[in-house]
Amino acid sequence: MANLRFQVVAEAFKKKPLDIKAPAERPSEYFGKKVFNREKMYKYLPKQVYNKMIDVMDNGARLDLDVADAVAAGMKQWATENDVTHYTHWFQPLTEGTAEKHDSFVEHDGKGGMIEEFSGKLIVQQEPDASSFPSGGIRSTFEARGYSAWDPTSPVFIIDDTLCIPTVFISYSGEALDYKAPLLRSLHAVNVAATDVCHFFYPNVKKVFSTLGWEQEYFLVDEGLYSARPDLLLTGRTLMGHDSAKNQQMDDHYFGTIPDRVQAFMKDLEIQALELGIPCKTRHNEVAPNQFELAPIFEETNLAVDHNMLLMSLMRKVARKHGFRVLLHEKPFAGINGSGKHNNWSLSTDTGVRLHAPGKTQEDTLRFVVFIVETLMGVYRHNGLLKASIMSASNAHRLGANEAPPAIISSFLGKQVSELLDHIEKADPDALTMAGKQGMKMDIPEIPEIMIDNTDRNRTSPFAFTGNRFEFRAVGSEANCASAMIALNSAVAEALADFKQRVDARIAAISGDETFRDGKHNATYHAILDIIREDIATCKPIRFDGNGYSDEWVVEAEKRGLDTEKSCPVIFERYLDKASIDMFSKLGVMTEKELEARNEVKWETYTKKIQIEARVLGDLSINHIIPVATRYQSQLLENVHNMHVSFASDKADKLSARNVKIIEEIAERTSNIETMVEELVEARKKANVIADEHTKAIAYHDTVAPKLDEIRYQIDKLELIVDDACWPLPKYRELLFIR
Ligand code: ADP
Ligand code: MG
Repeated sequence: MANLRFQVVAEAFKKKPLDIKAPAERPSEYFGKKVFNREKMYKYLPKQVYNKMIDVMDNGARLDLDVADAVAAGMKQWATENDVTHYTHWFQPLTEGTAEKHDSFVEHDGKGGMIEEFSGKLIVQQEPDASSFPSGGIRSTFEARGYSAWDPTSPVFIIDDTLCIPTVFISYSGEALDYKAPLLRSLHAVNVAATDVCHFFYPNVKKVFSTLGWEQEYFLVDEGLYSARPDLLLTGRTLMGHDSAKNQQMDDHYFGTIPDRVQAFMKDLEIQALELGIPCKTRHNEVAPNQFELAPIFEETNLAVDHNMLLMSLMRKVARKHGFRVLLHEKPFAGINGSGKHNNWSLSTDTGVRLHAPGKTQEDTLRFVVFIVETLMGVYRHNGLLKASIMSASNAHRLGANEAPPAIISSFLGKQVSELLDHIEKADPDALTMAGKQGMKMDIPEIPEIMIDNTDRNRTSPFAFTGNRFEFRAVGSEANCASAMIALNSAVAEALADFKQRVDARIAAISGDETFRDGKHNATYHAILDIIREDIATCKPIRFDGNGYSDEWVVEAEKRGLDTEKSCPVIFERYLDKASIDMFSKLGVMTEKELEARNEVKWETYTKKIQIEARVLGDLSINHIIPVATRYQSQLLENVHNMHVSFASDKADKLSARNVKIIEEIAERTSNIETMVEELVEARKKANVIADEHTKAIAYHDTVAPKLDEIRYQIDKLELIVDDACWPLPKYRELLFIR
């Protein structure tokens, strides 16, 4: 019987890289070719419509239907010039992907023929029949329908023959059913709070943007090999597979030469991504074999999130064209690194100030300190929530295992910034006041100009300061970045608003006091210093520069009051903590009802993922692994039997000792597997009758998930002893080293 495995391995070896021709133009020329960006708006829209759209995009002005109609006309013209026949609202439901429903432009012309039509109404709002998207019961309880509404801050783009319109997806009663709606609300909240705080330093600032630069890690696997692995196909990860003798121990993959077939894929992907306005910048091999990374130049957060979603779907498509499958799962292979998506995050003003970058003047440095410290305050207060925002059944494999990042959220600042904060904190406030009272020059702690040293990095910190931004490294490769960005921007918005309030109160308290007029600094400066000093002390527990994997850190973190929970469904509970509900509702990001509904979805999704894995592993155990192992065992038995037919019993015993041992081991392991699969089914049955999604998810985590590892252990041991020629599933050494 031909072994499918050998067939696909042989074919994978023979595959050649596709010949991808670069466009005749330079990247700077075809960048954004398929995007209805400002340049196209200027070309295709009447002047006053263009101006109105700029106002809508930059200042959140209301979009009137007549303007939308004019925009639709311009879009349609541009789209038809690009052979577009359909349009779709493109949205991000609570599954980790995007959704679209295509409608064609054609309408009856009333004279028996057809015409192409596209009106403002169709851009602005659509009603996808979306009853099967997860909603945590919001739609069934309140309004049956959901609708999608245009987000004019993210430009319309073309994929193949379809015009894609980025939209939010909400219920008729106004609850968010997607990631984009709360993201936009959180970006608004951080804009308002940060702009207020900026006014202490720069009165001209009108707007603060959150910026995001993600780094997308992924694996590529040959399509033929992939198709011979039902576990990869159905769950996105390998549920079994013994370590390859060689994997990443030589560190020879990281930044190594990119294989030709992969290079062709990357080239193709980048051309298409650039045409879609995704500013791809960096590509390289990652640590694990067959693991790679793509990073664009950072952008405004809403746009960056859309671009990441778009890129992930583009990757899936382009990979197939090149005979690959892209694995975005956080942990497709045990024993080697998983994939993350570092979220480089910062805030910057419409006047061009990067708020997390140190500046030249003392005032700039104080502003820098304020934004660093208030970011830490947000992360400190909501460290459990931030962990919840990046947690998923698949990312759980990465966090807390001995792999970056650890499952406790802490922040690494580097030596210079740490010392700066310590310096400010330690300056004795009494001494300052006394000095002032005696009419002497105020001894303000001199805030030194700092130049951040880029080499001072801790690669394993989950939330590291990297010179002019923070890098939230716990985000999973498959995740919608919006989830992390909603939590982070909200937490920082809350901290900034709270800071502003306390500074204002402090200013009011001291402004009549002559002590605080030293000719050099005003009451505001003193008030800011006072409050920031308080906050430096308060948020100290979140600062950690040591080894995040040591057992001592877990103990220490608990002492510091940080969240050390590791169970995924329990971590989701943090969304429903009073502090989280208060923060989200106060900022207008999400209501309690929305949070509850979304948690239902999270728990349900968790359960389903483990459930599918359990079914796949159960099936593979019973109908792939046990039969193959048993067949091999029979061969050995036959050999033992023949030995006894051919030789005297003593000699036969001796000669067949090794085979007998293997026969026994196979018997033991297959019987273990059988028992464990039965237990797995039992555990599932028990969990399945639990009605409450929260309790059910916890049952799946506690009683079903651990069985997967136990079964895997037995199978991986069998893989080592069963004849390679009959093993049906491509092995790690084949999946990971073939191009
Ligand atoms: P590394 O792998 O060393 O962390 P990369 O160059 O791969 O760095 O990625 C850094 C990412 O951070 C890029 O997407 C870059 O555009 C982004 N970035 C740089 N400055 C900022 C900023 N102020 N805000 C958000 N992202 C930023
Ligand atoms: Mg990075």
